[in-house]
Amino acid sequence: MKTFAEFGLEPKVLQAITELGFEESTPIQSKAIPIALTGTDLIGQAQTGTGKTAAFGIPLVNKIPVTEERIVALIMTPTRELAIQVSEEIGKLTRYKGLRSLPIYGGQEIGRQIRSLKKRPQIIIGTPGRLLDHINRKTIKLDDVQTVVLDEADEMLDMGFMEDITSILSLVPENRHTMLFSATMPHNIQRLAQQFLKNPEHVSVIPTQISAPLIEQAYIEVHERQKFDALSRLLDMESPELAIIFGRTKRRVDELSEALQKRGYSADGLHGDLSQNQRDNVMRKFRDGSIDVLVATDVAARGLDVSGVSHVINFDLPQDPESYVHRIGRTGRAGKEGTAWSFVTPREIDHLHFIEKVTRHKIAKKPLPSIAEAIEGKQRVTAERILEFVESDSINEFKAITIQLLEQYDSVNLLAAAIKLITGEKKDISIELTPEDPIRAKKRRPDVRSSGRRFSGGPFGGGNRSGSGPRSSGSRSGDSRGGYGGRSGGSSSYNRSDRDGQGSRGSSQGRSSDTRRSRQSSEDFNRN
Ligand code: ADP
Ligand code: MG
Repeated sequence: MKTFAEFGLEPKVLQAITELGFEESTPIQSKAIPIALTGTDLIGQAQTGTGKTAAFGIPLVNKIPVTEERIVALIMTPTRELAIQVSEEIGKLTRYKGLRSLPIYGGQEIGRQIRSLKKRPQIIIGTPGRLLDHINRKTIKLDDVQTVVLDEADEMLDMGFMEDITSILSLVPENRHTMLFSATMPHNIQRLAQQFLKNPEHVSVIPTQISAPLIEQAYIEVHERQKFDALSRLLDMESPELAIIFGRTKRRVDELSEALQKRGYSADGLHGDLSQNQRDNVMRKFRDGSIDVLVATDVAARGLDVSGVSHVINFDLPQDPESYVHRIGRTGRAGKEGTAWSFVTPREIDHLHFIEKVTRHKIAKKPLPSIAEAIEGKQRVTAERILEFVESDSINEFKAITIQLLEQYDSVNLLAAAIKLITGEKKDISIELTPEDPIRAKKRRPDVRSSGRRFSGGPFGGGNRSGSGPRSSGSRSGDSRGGYGGRSGGSSSYNRSDRDGQGSRGSSQGRSSDTRRSRQSSEDFNRN
């Protein structure tokens, strides 16, 4: 792997990279950056979490002169969340150089964006829908754009943005530098690249293993109605730093987060029906640690990059193996260790085996944590907290009373009482969740077993590729996996967005019902 100093970057850019804490480049960065610096068009393929943002962000920031007053770079991302994430990373990269970058997405008041645009940003990071709004209002013009990045291109196409991307790119001068990044390379992405890139170089990081060795995977066999108690015990036993719990539906997410709050956990839920404001609030609380359990649907959690997620818990198994890989990839990021637990009902065991087969990873069976283990776990956390204080020297003012107490009472009794007080008594409120049907291995969606080698070996391999499902083009099986941080990419979003209920509102002319539906879902995602 190369150090960043070897790329011949401007000192101010290098300084920003150092500040970000990047010591050496990730594989996709060491391949892509030198090519991007020469201005050659580029297709970059690597799984999620491998540092693709910096792979295009660094060369981009390096080349734009600070004196520039026009919009010279345009980055397109599929969702508002990703636009914000990319914009934050670009912001950090330009910190010493002092360029101006601006995220543009639906859901934020357009007037505010128009005011920010008056500050003459050189770099715009936007979702296609809102970008088009601005272009139509003439508040953004693309005549001076020299560099275009299509980030998470597979997600953008999955969300039905092909037409929007085409319209936007037709407004950018032909003589430009174009880079396309994607976790997977299905045919539609190759076509997109052919249409919009000139003699691109293709760099990819070939995976060795699908799931990261840094992620420990286990499952617990539970009946549907035992799941919630299993969850509280597991949370008590493991006391995660930050945990993401995946539920299958929005109802599930709502019920679960409420139930967890009732039991005294600091939890909140994230799904597509929340207003953008609510979503932002939840994410902010999760990032800054004021809640430590985030309950989410697949769609809501897609692409989120939160560092320090120590646990992923699949309260419900996902429908397809790729979602499984995508979900567990929310932990074990950037070289840190993570644990992924899955609850599997007896009727879902076959489905679990299918996931194991496709991901080529055996998932260890663990027993349901006992009440004793749960209690012990909680007490251990309290004891650790107490010991931290012992070492922190901030307890002097409590010593007088302690000495007084010790003169009258036994030290073991005293400390035990204190631990009990701090640990808190478990609120034994009974919880009723609406049961979800088990996932049936038979109802596989066609895209899951489509063309790729990895999916061809499963019990449902081969045959019936075109299928009858809503989307048959999205072969995610060419996934490139295994790499930096060992997370994995691609989630096929379609059914999930439907399940997530984002697919049925609004209308949009001139699209097939498929694209309309998925487009709508992404727009909801961005706007609302
Ligand atoms: P991708 O777009 O491939 O999914 P991201 O660009 O979101 O991945 O990067 C994932 C995480 O890894 C981010 O938190 C990012 O800051 C971090 N990261 C990127 N490059 C490096 C590096 N060279 N060293 C350490 N961390 C890195
Ligand atoms: Mg990315």
